[in-house]
Amino acid sequence: MVSKSNAGQWARAGVLIGSSRFALTMSQSIVLFGPPGAGKGTQARAIVEATGKPQISTGDMLRAATAAGTPMGLAAKVYMEAGELVPDEVIIGLIEERLRQSDATDGVLFDGFPRTIPQAEALSEIATVGLVIAIEVPDRAIVERIVGRRMDPETGDIYHVTFNPAPPEVADRLIQRKDDNEETVLSRLAAYHSQTAPLAEWYRARDLYTPINGDQNIAAVGAEVAAAVETLR
Ligand code: ADP
Ligand code: ADP
Repeated sequence: MVSKSNAGQWARAGVLIGSSRFALTMSQSIVLFGPPGAGKGTQARAIVEATGKPQISTGDMLRAATAAGTPMGLAAKVYMEAGELVPDEVIIGLIEERLRQSDATDGVLFDGFPRTIPQAEALSEIATVGLVIAIEVPDRAIVERIVGRRMDPETGDIYHVTFNPAPPEVADRLIQRKDDNEETVLSRLAAYHSQTAPLAEWYRARDLYTPINGDQNIAAVGAEVAAAVETLR
């Protein structure tokens, strides 16, 4: 277990903590919810195209901070490589900062956030969530999806060695995320079940939870996701 750093350390790392909260965006936002490897990133692009809402992926933001070598990124890296969740106050600070940007005023697509009930509670104070698209995938399918995942560092496109192979012209530049190994996946799945899955009930109680069968091919999942997005209009 990585020790939970105190707020002071994170504050020195430049993370905004405990700032006064106010609605940063009034139009409806969408949450893409599901276990690691469910297909959230894969489906995000079509939702962005259909709605014009920008994608906000906390995983991508954390990886960018890690690559840039910022103090926050380096602190977060330890959690990510252990397959544990980065502390809520760091994530909430990141989101607050991101929602202040002008492209967020008409609502956004959250990908991989919120992942805990405290994150969802903080989000409810600063944005209006109109739809939670939950891509449901059983554990037995997750490890194979994650271990076979490959990314194109130039375009951000997501591929899979078996389920969505890259075209030959990009095959040579594909990368594999450091945390996409079998051991870390099991920690990430454990974190999902203990800390994130309870959020399903939280959103169900608010009548926002829209389950999608993620245990079918990418196009079939995409069709269900598109139908769910239509309900927001
Ligand atoms: P997440 O963002 O939820 O972690 P990704 O979209 O990155 O998930 O998908 C994880 C891996 O599984 C990728 O390699 C992707 O190509 C693959 N994948 C996504 N959706 C499906 C699907 N419906 N069937 C099979 N593989 C999928
Ligand atoms: P995946 O959907 O494939 O699990 P992500 O790219 O969403 O991967 O996240 C990678 C890692 O970044 C997570 O395992 C976790 O350590 C961290 N992370 C991303 N989003 C959050 C979040 N909302 N709360 C806490 N940790 C997060």
